[in-house]
Amino acid sequence: MIGTVTLVGAGPGGRELLTLAGAAAIRQADAVVYDRLVDGDILCLLPPGAVRVDAGKQAGNHPMPQDEINATLVRLAKQGKNTVRLKGGDCYLFGRGGEECEHLRANGVPFRVIPGVTSALAAPAFAGIPVTHRDYCSSVHFITAHARAGQTPSIDYAALVRLDGTLVFLMGLGALEQVTQGLLDAGIDPAMPAAVIENGARGSQRKVVDTVRGLAAQVRAAGLGSPALIVVGRVCGLSDALDWFTPLPLHGKTVVVTRPRERAGTLSARLRTLGANVVEAPCIETVENEDTALLRAALGHSYDWAVFTSPAGVHAAVHALGRLGRDLRALYGMKLAAIGRGTADALAAYGLTADLVPAQYDGAHLADALVEQLPPDGAVLLLRARQGTRVLPEKLLAAGMVVADVPLYDTVYRCDRADELRALLARRAVDCVTFTSASTVEGFVRAAGDAPLDGFTALCIGAQTEKAAKDHLMHTITAKNATIDAMLARLLEEYGNV
Ligand code: SAH
Repeated sequence: MIGTVTLVGAGPGGRELLTLAGAAAIRQADAVVYDRLVDGDILCLLPPGAVRVDAGKQAGNHPMPQDEINATLVRLAKQGKNTVRLKGGDCYLFGRGGEECEHLRANGVPFRVIPGVTSALAAPAFAGIPVTHRDYCSSVHFITAHARAGQTPSIDYAALVRLDGTLVFLMGLGALEQVTQGLLDAGIDPAMPAAVIENGARGSQRKVVDTVRGLAAQVRAAGLGSPALIVVGRVCGLSDALDWFTPLPLHGKTVVVTRPRERAGTLSARLRTLGANVVEAPCIETVENEDTALLRAALGHSYDWAVFTSPAGVHAAVHALGRLGRDLRALYGMKLAAIGRGTADALAAYGLTADLVPAQYDGAHLADALVEQLPPDGAVLLLRARQGTRVLPEKLLAAGMVVADVPLYDTVYRCDRADELRALLARRAVDCVTFTSASTVEGFVRAAGDAPLDGFTALCIGAQTEKAAKDHLMHTITAKNATIDAMLARLLEEYGNV
């Protein structure tokens, strides 16, 4: 059957400004064709097996020609793939979405369109500029300053000046001097406020606000680059007064999040809310063990405690029991221990209450807490990663206990964005890297390759993680307890914003 092509507007940057409908379409896509301006954090939502076509970077770094994009969309749909065509901002605002839909229609390919938050509205909003305001204007106009190859843009500056509304120019940075000169020649007040916003609505946003007369020189002096838009109008004068974005405590800080994809969301979202420029680069993955023989054998004995040391372990246990035709009732009669709050929450999602969570969330403290609770011949079932810390079973065995250590999953070192990460590290463009386990440190170090590890602060969730980071000579700061709240508190303290 022929697939459907869904045009999705990805919004101006990170995942927060992607629509719910857009996210749902991406999560279900068999294939995606995406543009240069689409953020890697959004591509992370794709199912693992989805076909990815980068239309922004083809051989020799040239973008894919439009007719090739059109042909690719038709080909993927005719292979039966539900295909997402992912575009920066909104799909129809200077996004060639209309041309693509015409081509799909001509070829009998069904399509739908999920609009996105356009940069033309989002960037001004993040720069303190309301595009309309009753005291200053009654219209807003979107203009492209880019012409088709071989043509010069034919902008009717006189008409624009006469309309006296807010003007938003896209694709205009290269032609900034022509645009401001065109407006001046058409009689605009030279003192009219105007702005250029680079990387709008992203953690890395920069802006220059001046007058139409002075703007170009200021922007060139500040060295602003693409993507950027030009905003002209009296509303630009509100930019400082209504700036809510740059005062955020982590504004201007680039923070890398290394934890596995399925767990990264909350930490990233909270960092972004605090104003950070977040780079989500998961450095480890969990792969569940298909082989259930050890679990089956272990369940032939009885235990006083079942012990979970990660949320992934809880999910893996449910899945492994399912493969044996059983469910969590197989643990009936055992008490449940969780290494920390996240793991206890994962149990709670299955309706189970952890009987024990140590005061400090690590293997050593968990072992001590169990030893306190159990007689010397107590029996403990560990349901965890093959690469789990040795400290836990060793302490239990030393106290005379019977231990069954069942590996339910493997922690695999893998980073899809290793190239990007290396480039950022080499440019010393990273302020902080967050580590939520010793294994994320190991995965990050492998992903970083030859890149320097001394230009940033390693924010660690606890002592074992800190030790792993210190072993690689990183500069570390560590949360007071092993929670995301405590990590963020420590980071704010570091940057002087308690
Ligand atoms: N469809 C997109 C625009 C595509 S044209 C949208 O709705 O946003 C590409 C132009 O959009 C760039 O040249 C730049 O002018 C603008 N642009 C896209 N993302 C931007 C961002 N984050 N900040 C500032 N301008 C951006």
